[in-house]
Parts: sequence; C-alpha cells; structure tokens
Amino acid sequence: MRVYIGIDDTDSKRSMCTTYVAAVALRRAESLGAKRADLPWLVRLNPNCPYKTRGNAATCLPLEVEPSVFGAVWNSVVETVRELADLENGADPGVAAFSEESRPLLAGLYLRAVRELVELESVLKVCESHAIRYWAFGESRGLIGAAAAAGAKEETLTTYELLAYRTRAMWGKERLIDPESVRRMDELFGGQTFDNYDYDRDEVRITPHTPCPVLLGIRSTCVEVLSESLSVLRINEPLEFYEVFKTNQATDLHYVVRDLRSIRPLESVVVRGRVASEPRVTPGGHVFLKVSDDSGSVTVAAYEPTGAFRWVVARLTVGDEVAVYGSVKIKPEGLTLNLEKLHVLKLKEVYVERAPPCPLCKKSMKSVGSRKGYRCERCGYIDPKATKVRKRVDRGLVEGFYEVTVTARRHLVRPLSLKESGPNDHRSA
Ligand SMILES: [Zn+2]
Repeated sequence: MRVYIGIDDTDSKRSMCTTYVAAVALRRAESLGAKRADLPWLVRLNPNCPYKTRGNAATCLPLEVEPSVFGAVWNSVVETVRELADLENGADPGVAAFSEESRPLLAGLYLRAVRELVELESVLKVCESHAIRYWAFGESRGLIGAAAAAGAKEETLTTYELLAYRTRAMWGKERLIDPESVRRMDELFGGQTFDNYDYDRDEVRITPHTPCPVLLGIRSTCVEVLSESLSVLRINEPLEFYEVFKTNQATDLHYVVRDLRSIRPLESVVVRGRVASEPRVTPGGHVFLKVSDDSGSVTVAAYEPTGAFRWVVARLTVGDEVAVYGSVKIKPEGLTLNLEKLHVLKLKEVYVERAPPCPLCKKSMKSVGSRKGYRCERCGYIDPKATKVRKRVDRGLVEGFYEVTVTARRHLVRPLSLKESGPNDHRSA
C-alpha cells in the first residue's frame, strides 16, 4: 500500500529540526521493510504563521509499505517523533498517515496552510474522517502541518534541498566548513543550486545559525547535481548522514493576487498599484511609502535587513506603477506590507524646467523678467521670446524586478536568479 506520513512541529526555537526527525524516521521505516515511493518532502507553510518556530517547515514521507508491516512502521515513526521532538520546549508535534486515494481531499488544506492560517478544529475533522492513523502531542498543533504536508500538490514540489546532519556531539557547536570551498561549489554548480553564498556580506549561506542537527543545506532546481555539490565542500567534522528532500521552496506559492480592499493580515500578497507618497527614510534606515490602487491604499515597508533593495524603493516617486510582493502585518498605523520583491512596471517620466541655453555660447541664460524673455550674461544675446525648457530627469532606476538581499529572503520566495516559471503578477489566487 502507498502511504503518505506527514510530520510537523517537532522543533522549538532552541533545538531540533523537523527534517532531521523525518530523515531518521525514514531510515528506521526502511529497516522495517518500507520502501521510498518518492524522495521525502520538505513543505514550507505560511511564513507569517504566529505559531511557527523558524521556517515553518513540515515534512512528508511517501512510502510503499506491505499492509502487514504498516503497523510496525507507524509505531516506529511515532516513537521517533516522541524520542527526538523537543517536547520540553514547546513543540506540539503531530503525525498523520493518509492513503493515495484520500490525498486529493487534502489539496485545499495544503494551499490554505501555505497562504492563510488554518484552524486546528477543521484539521482534526479531516484526520478523524480520512487519516489511516494520526497521533498528536500537547496542543496537537502539529497535525495542521502534518496533514497539509501529506496533501502537498506534487506539481508545487519543484525544487530540492540536500540536508546534511551533524553527529550528536557537534550539536550546538560552530559548524566547520571551509568558506572557500563553498565559493568553489557555487562557482561550479551555481547555475543549478542557489543561495550558497552571500557575496555582498561575504557570508556562507548553506549553514543555519541555530543549534539544530543540520550541518548544511544545499538548495537546487536539479536533483542530479546535489551529491556532487556536496563532494566539493571541505567539511572538517563528521557527517551523520545526508538526505535529499523535494520541496516547495523558491516557488512563490505563498503569494495571492489581491486588490488593496481585500488584503488581510498574515497573508502574503501581490498587489498592483501606484506609488502614492514620496518614500520616507527613517533614522534606522527603514524605507516607507504608500501604494494605492482603485480600491484603497497601504503602507509599504522595506526594512533595514533587506539591504540595498531599500535604495531602489527610496528612488520611487508618486505616480510610478508597481507590483509589490510581501506579507501583510497589522501595525498601529494600519495595515503594512513588508516588501519581499518589487516589480517596477512603469516609471513616471519626471521633468525639471530650466532656463534656456544661449544659442551662441551654450551657457544658461538669465530671465529678464516675467514674460520678457532671456538674456545671456556672457555674450549679451537677448531673446525676448525665449521660455524655460523642460528636461527629463534621470531616475537612476530601470523598470524590472528587484528583490531583498539573500539573507532576508524567505524560503518560499523565488530568487530572481531562477528565471523559469518565475514571478508572475497575473497568476490568479
Ligand atoms: Zn551667450
């Protein structure tokens, strides 16, 4: 039989990682006779979820299991979660197994869990009616991600991540990877892998900064290059093992296209509109402006950690046509859209008026008086009919897509470097 076992919320802010729990559970399931029906799935859910620990990741193990051993496999997965989940520090894990036939019933839940906040009660009903087995601990909140991951639409799992795990003795210690070898790996495989190195900040991006079991993660659009990419790295500590996950990272799946009247807090949206106020830069280096469409207006924010992206936002002016991508937050002054990506659709043509140049010596002439023309102070040329000339201002900005710096980018956001099936302002919700 084919089963999809979703696992979620095993980590706390302090330790553990749901991918590690899933990878260990997968190895134990294999030792009991289960076969992989696919790579394990790493499914990113709504990045604005207030209950999330870090990246709001859930996992799913697609397995082919003989019905006679399913019970043993199920017990082993649940025991692995019990053993490894950080139960003392607030993890509320959930595990849920679904059949191939019941997966289409979960597709709507999956998309809602990526784009909105899902109520636990509705998920409990789904598990009661459709799960083969389910198990939860604490507040059972992990069942939401477990069922959503098991229902992930396969056509949305278009990228990969190789995750390498550390031996237990190294958890919480500094990660020993030679940065030079990361740049070398990026040079060789940068076309198929992404977010390996932040050259602006001179910083390795494949290692997390948390005390979790993950040593490194290599993200890619092509599964074939991953093990070779890993082999280029000079790693000065033992690897426990590595696992390649299929993911919905870097797909822009979390965005819904909205007009401003219908945006809601904790959603990620794409809105087309016009810049309605001049950008304001705060002393802390945050940039704010207003964007309006025919239905309303919103404050758009590019915060300091978004890097040089802010200076693009600061060059916008009233009347520019833009599509803004980001998450909607409630602030005391109203709804704010935290920018993740910006599409400058049409820059307004801005002109300044200047005194006309002298036709003889090309210097700017001086006005003689209102409607009395201009006179050249250098050669004395007078033109009583001369008027001011309009000159187009160089905006220092071109139309196109802009994104926040690598370190500020969320897992679901598609980097602009990955062009194919990239950002789309017109995709319907
Ligand atoms: Zn002159």
